[in-house]
Amino acid sequence: MTLSHDPTPAPSSATAAISLAPLEKTALETYVAPAKPSLVGMSRTALREALVGIGVPAGQAKMRVQQLWQWIYVHGARDFDAMTNVSKDLRTRLATHFTLARPEVVAEQVSTDGTRKWLLRLPGDGAAGAESRPHEVECVYIPETDRGTLCVSSQVGCTLTCAFCHTGTQRLVRNLTAGEIVGQVLVAKDRLGDWPDGVPPADGIVPTDGGRFISNIVMMGMGEPLYNFEAVRDALLVVADGEGIGISKRRITLSTSGVVPNIVRAGDEIGVMLAVSLHAVRDDIRDELVPLNRKYPIAQLMEACRNYPGLNNARRITFEYVMLKGVNDSLADARALVKLLKGIPAKINLIPFNPWPGTKYECSDWDQIEKFSEFVFDAGYSSPVRTPRGRDIFAACGQLKSATEKLSARERMALRAMAMTE
Ligand code: SAH
Ligand code: SF4
Repeated sequence: MTLSHDPTPAPSSATAAISLAPLEKTALETYVAPAKPSLVGMSRTALREALVGIGVPAGQAKMRVQQLWQWIYVHGARDFDAMTNVSKDLRTRLATHFTLARPEVVAEQVSTDGTRKWLLRLPGDGAAGAESRPHEVECVYIPETDRGTLCVSSQVGCTLTCAFCHTGTQRLVRNLTAGEIVGQVLVAKDRLGDWPDGVPPADGIVPTDGGRFISNIVMMGMGEPLYNFEAVRDALLVVADGEGIGISKRRITLSTSGVVPNIVRAGDEIGVMLAVSLHAVRDDIRDELVPLNRKYPIAQLMEACRNYPGLNNARRITFEYVMLKGVNDSLADARALVKLLKGIPAKINLIPFNPWPGTKYECSDWDQIEKFSEFVFDAGYSSPVRTPRGRDIFAACGQLKSATEKLSARERMALRAMAMTE
């Protein structure tokens, strides 16, 4: 085995060999789950243990972790053979036990406004037969002039059932692993050619932030991130690692519908920016819009926000407020909102409601949104109205939903019986 402390050499073409040709969605049945664990998303400690587990001497493990980290997160390696400063023997052993697999991209849609949505396929529950059908989640890239934001999912579906959210109509299927969360970032970078030797798509999209396509991450895709705390924490710490993907914690925002016990914990253990899906200022309205409010009512939520570590005027909590016509958009609501947030370093993000098939809600009229925003602004809070992005491809806030449905116990038994008789 060769020991090398050389800086990571230029990658071989193996890292660049990804097809950016348009994707044809393949049938679910064609999905083949990776046969071996992927190293993507492992913490440095877990990576070290994995290496020692395949016989890397403990004294070398730290250096090998560093090499792998660079290959995976700086160069985007998808193949151990690309790792030219790692000995052939170790590359072979790595390939025998592990992969660098990310979620499989099975569809890519590009909005007229440049937003991109990827449908990703993941291993199912792992049981034999029809039950192990793959799961699917969505991930969205939103380019703007001064930044490029990746909206990442934390769960397949969601346990919560916010009345205005399309994802909420999909029962929780399962939590994503840290690898699957980090994997979404790698997949987006693959598709955008956002690696040192990457080739951007041919449709004229340009990097927005000093040559990088992805400058910001928002945990605002499918699922409630604070109900998948450990995996989300571990994934975000990998994404923020300065020697890898290196997206600073100030540019990562975690959005929660209000899982109070985990809010302060998120500040302590992850330290990213917090967004809270408030949406109403009275418990009776919020109980209906965000049913989790019945468990953690507004007063408790505000208390947790006040205690969020590291808050100051430069590090404020974003309160998200979906504008629903005739439900929560009156000036009395705006007044109560300002009162509620008193003393919390806050900004308010007004989100025009994005419709989806079957919803009973309507978006507030534009002049009402403007009046609401002005009132909040005049009270001293930044109150931008979020421009809906990617509505034409169902990629806007709250429109994500994948076809994966959790099966009932009876459906599972029926499918198992079918699989056994086939
Ligand atoms: N589950 C987390 C994060 C994902 S949703 C949460 O609820 O905070 C990201 C934001 O979009 C949340 O503020 C959510 O309430 C909002 N949202 C959901 N459905 C929406 C819709 N149809 N139109 C506009 N915003 C919506
Ligand atoms: Fe889940 Fe967030 Fe949608 Fe509520 S708004 S159902 S928490 S994804």
